[in-house]
Amino acid sequence: MQFYLNGYRPGDPDILPEAPGAANRAAELPATVDVLVVGSGPAGSVLAAQLSMFPGIRTRLVERRNGPLELGQADGIACRTVEMFEAFGMGAKLIREAYWVNETVFWRPSPDDRSRIVRTGRIQDVEDGLSEFPHVIVNQARLQQYLLEYMRKSPTRLEPDYGLEFVRLVVDAEGEYPVRATLRNVDSGIEHSIRAKYVVGCDGARSAVRQSIGAEPHGDYANHAWGVMDMLAVTDFPDIRLKAAIQSADEGNILLIPREGGYLVRLYVDLGDVDLNDRGAVRQKYTSGKIIEAAQRVLRPYTLEVRDIAWFSVYEVGQRVTDRFDDVPPEAARSRLPRVFIAGDACHTHSAKAGQGMNVSMQDAFNLGWKLVSVLDGRAKPELLRTYSVERHAVAKVLIDFDKEWSKIMASPPKDPERPELGGVDPAELQAYFARSLRYTAGVATHYPPATALTAQSTHQSLAKGFTIGMRFHSAPVVRLADAKPMQLGHVARADGAWRLYAFADASAERLRALADFLAESPNSPVRRFTSKDADIDSVIDVRAVFQQGHRELKVEELPPMLLPRKGRFGLIDYEKAFCPDLKNGPDIFVLRGIDRAKGAIVIVRPDQYVANVLPLDAHDALAAFFAGFLLDRP
Ligand SMILES: Cc1cc2nc3c(=O)[nH]c(=O)nc-3n(C[C@H](O)[C@H](O)[C@H](O)COP(=O)(O)OP(=O)(O)OC[C@H]3O[C@@H](n4cnc5c(N)ncnc54)[C@H](O)[C@@H]3O)c2cc1C
Repeated sequence: MQFYLNGYRPGDPDILPEAPGAANRAAELPATVDVLVVGSGPAGSVLAAQLSMFPGIRTRLVERRNGPLELGQADGIACRTVEMFEAFGMGAKLIREAYWVNETVFWRPSPDDRSRIVRTGRIQDVEDGLSEFPHVIVNQARLQQYLLEYMRKSPTRLEPDYGLEFVRLVVDAEGEYPVRATLRNVDSGIEHSIRAKYVVGCDGARSAVRQSIGAEPHGDYANHAWGVMDMLAVTDFPDIRLKAAIQSADEGNILLIPREGGYLVRLYVDLGDVDLNDRGAVRQKYTSGKIIEAAQRVLRPYTLEVRDIAWFSVYEVGQRVTDRFDDVPPEAARSRLPRVFIAGDACHTHSAKAGQGMNVSMQDAFNLGWKLVSVLDGRAKPELLRTYSVERHAVAKVLIDFDKEWSKIMASPPKDPERPELGGVDPAELQAYFARSLRYTAGVATHYPPATALTAQSTHQSLAKGFTIGMRFHSAPVVRLADAKPMQLGHVARADGAWRLYAFADASAERLRALADFLAESPNSPVRRFTSKDADIDSVIDVRAVFQQGHRELKVEELPPMLLPRKGRFGLIDYEKAFCPDLKNGPDIFVLRGIDRAKGAIVIVRPDQYVANVLPLDAHDALAAFFAGFLLDRP
């Protein structure tokens, strides 16, 4: 964590200096804003948190509810999402508070007495080395609180406008603020008009923003219901502190999720198919008492005494994906630029069993946030915004297909070996499918194809085989040269809208030094071309180098100027740009990530932590051309 760049300030360094005028922002709704975010769920909170760091961007976050969410809804946080939270500086806090899903157990009817369940399998949840972070469980409301605190401490002191409901919008053909939105005060019913450069609908499954832009969700409506209950209970079921997939012979299935704090537990209880002609009936039929009774029957011979119910809901969601995630219909794709976007459940809805809803929703927002920042800050061409729908729509389609398969297998009764003609799923098959899906459910399987200027062809992939172009940057341990600190290289990435250029040294480091000189001096250097003269040199493209020698073999004073940049109002030197392998703990980063030791490599990483390109260290022109594909020259 770096602070005091522009002067010493006592107190909590997470509370950033307030931008002029920020304190008054919450008071009144202005006539115009740059970005209007609708909905403060996981997607809206991640988006607003990113935007809140930029005082030059006027953001407003409107929320229909009268205050923050306090209870319930999603709770699974994939490894990939924790990696994202680390970029907000909240990874350590999250994993301290959370339940860690290290292993999953499987229970099924005993072959000797099918009225009793027995433990049949146990698997590791996150494969070794998949991420430096665990898969964790924390309540959605708590996660949103983290993001609200982050906004509150940001230079803009952004706070949601509660009790304000989005009603409709119209997009004008031109004008600086072409989106005209109507909001309604939930208490008084009074309507307000507001003009925005961009509107983002993070307003959930029944999104009114989606409706306003004529986008259509396609797929199945809810046909299967699950009772969800967060409870404090006394039980003799031995795996109450492990994630458990439990199949009974005739009483249905349970997915048991231990929760943060050591005592709380969540049960998803299968309630069977819903009558589509009588939607809502299942909610009336299944009271909390009925859900508990159903759980008790599945868990037999074990007992379950519920002492307190923290939250309870019946969750019935079909698998649907919206045809496009912005306001530009396909026929206008070449002539119009997007002005309105949707993210999260507004784009895709599916079951809760694979724990993907909140994660994919936040990743949508993380994908869009830096693109909006880049365009509004004048760093990038507005065409960049077209890539949001292209990239995330493809991700949503994969999610829906996965969820259909997953839901089917989870809701099937276990096969009875004595009566195979009745069908059902073999418990070993369920466990194998679960294990095969773990990379996907950890959130690290997303792979953007080279369909946009942001993802290069894999021409030079062999130089860094472990940093797959189009996939998330897979962190590895290093030692920071200047202060000998062992750390994760990926943790230098902040949610600050900047690109990261990791230069992995060649054997002699000659090509690395030539690259550093090119970046510092050449008029064609992307760092020089695309960064304003008055901005810090690493604010658009942040250059980091990883040498091959141990940190005691290299001298800080011999680093090239690009790796000791001067920043801030005092021209202080940033000493955190150069790294060495961590030679004490197993294979080093060059081995772990398959980097060519003779030639080295440039790995270009997007602000949302996805690898965009891998290039040779001496491909200076190709490097400049890559960034020129979407960034703008700055005065
Ligand atoms: C009742 C419920 C129970 C759920 N249970 C589970 C679960 O058990 N497990 C699981 O994995 N997932 C669950 N989910 C799904 C999970 O919560 C979502 O996938 C996730 O929250 C999606 O995030 P989001 O930000 O896209 O949308 P949401 O979290 O739905 O947030 C949308 C926000 O927009 C606000 N809003 C809506 N319309 C307007 C408007 N017109 N104007 C202003 N604000 C508006 C809403 O009040 C809300 O705060 C549940 C969802 C719901 C609604």
